[in-house]
Amino acid sequence: MSNTLLNPQLSILLEIQDMRAQLRELGSAEGSAPMEQEHFNIDLDEAKQHLEEKIGEMVGELSPQIRARYNRIAPNRDRVVVPVIHGVCYGCFVSIPTATAGDQGVHQVVRTCENCGSFIYVKP
Ligand SMILES: [Zn+2]
Repeated sequence: MSNTLLNPQLSILLEIQDMRAQLRELGSAEGSAPMEQEHFNIDLDEAKQHLEEKIGEMVGELSPQIRARYNRIAPNRDRVVVPVIHGVCYGCFVSIPTATAGDQGVHQVVRTCENCGSFIYVKP
């Protein structure tokens, strides 16, 4: 099915988003249960550093235009990519035009919500 194919740039953004979530989890694990650190095979700070490096590498793989937008929105939100379901953006819960839902080119370009600026993927 062609509509399960993700734009490669969007795939990168989703991976970045996943690693940022992981990074936040490590941060909160450290704060709430310092003793837990004994169960990790590597130092938490080291783990976080590795994640940050990976995120940096992947951000570097984004096209300049997408990277610029990512850098603009990422500091202000946990999720940079959100789904659009039944025409509603799940970043801001505002109804957005989904003329593109039937658009042939929908998976060729990375789209963004005009209201909140999130990268979006449209679920038909
Ligand atoms: Zn939005």
